[in-house]
Amino acid sequence: NSVFSHIVRAPEDPILGEGKPLVLNVVRQAEQLLVNDRSRVKEYLSITGLADFNKLSAKLILGADSPAIQENRVTTVQCLSGTGSLRVGAEFLARHYHQRTIYIPQPTWGNHPKVFTLAGLSVKSYRYYDPATRGLNFQGLLEDLGSAPSGAIVLLHACAHNPTGVDPTIDQWEQIRRLMRSRGLLPFFDSAYQGFASGSLDTDAQSVRMFVADGGEVLVAQSYAKNMGLYGERVGALSIVCRNADVASRVESQLKLVIRPMYSNPPIHGASIVATILKDRNMYREWTLELKAMADRIIRMRQQLFDALRARGTPGDWSHIIKQIGMFTFTGLNSEQVAFMTKEYHIYMTSDGRISMAGLSSRTVPHLADAIHAAVA
Ligand code: PMP
Repeated sequence: NSVFSHIVRAPEDPILGEGKPLVLNVVRQAEQLLVNDRSRVKEYLSITGLADFNKLSAKLILGADSPAIQENRVTTVQCLSGTGSLRVGAEFLARHYHQRTIYIPQPTWGNHPKVFTLAGLSVKSYRYYDPATRGLNFQGLLEDLGSAPSGAIVLLHACAHNPTGVDPTIDQWEQIRRLMRSRGLLPFFDSAYQGFASGSLDTDAQSVRMFVADGGEVLVAQSYAKNMGLYGERVGALSIVCRNADVASRVESQLKLVIRPMYSNPPIHGASIVATILKDRNMYREWTLELKAMADRIIRMRQQLFDALRARGTPGDWSHIIKQIGMFTFTGLNSEQVAFMTKEYHIYMTSDGRISMAGLSSRTVPHLADAIHAAVA
């Protein structure tokens, strides 16, 4: 009799294992260079990861000319992709920050509440999405953050909010920033789609940079899964922007104490690929072009899907398909309609009606439009 016989089967994660992302040319090139470099060894990285990678990652999200970086008040540690960066940041906050409550948007990526709860934070939500307009519930957001306890942590999606595809405008970001700073709320940005939303790395980092430019403190978790297609490499970074260099170095010393007993030090391969690309002017340029092509293709798929629904006379206003940003369309379809489309059309999406636009092509748009049309008719 197994000592584990009482264990109940956990539900499967519905999302992991979906899709077959392509490998970027520039990533192939970087890997070739790494393979040919006989001076590379398999030594451990330090607890905080590859130094070049960390520096370049901070520059990528905060800007090449960021005063915060020049003033040495940013500490960056390499982590296991976006998820690991969020977890390390959350563990650090749970141990050392005076306010253990984190506010996450409603809805948000399904892993957020689990990561933060297991790290020891207490999770609350703020209103974000308005199903009636399929847009931002800006009033609700301001009210909820306005009544959050002083010092609370606020999780913000840097761009291309998952799952809604709805982002605040720059003007709205500015109002959110002012409100948060006036109430001493601590911003923790999740940047999983930099470059994927608009096609421009700088444009997609604007929200984060606004909060850094005011001199206040900021956490940001970066993932290279989507924008370099390095899903399985598990490469990401956590940066904590501090008031001054002295605080930053003390913060870093404590981040090491979080990381060391968790996984000792991060893996070398993915970080070497990223650093190779970010530090070479030509490869960097090629990356931005490939990234822009991916983002543009998704924007084209949105237009094609929207046009296809129009052509079919599908009831309802589908303009949110072209207004939303990033990889996903939050269709507004309910779980019965989703189940119908899966059963009758073999179309797979999350039960909240979120479609991955990255998985769509001109060839498959008509089939999807037929399915949506049949589901809502
Ligand atoms: N944050 C958000 C909003 C995401 O959508 C994802 C991936 N789906 C992640 C973080 C983390 O991804 P990863 O750990 O693969 O970088």
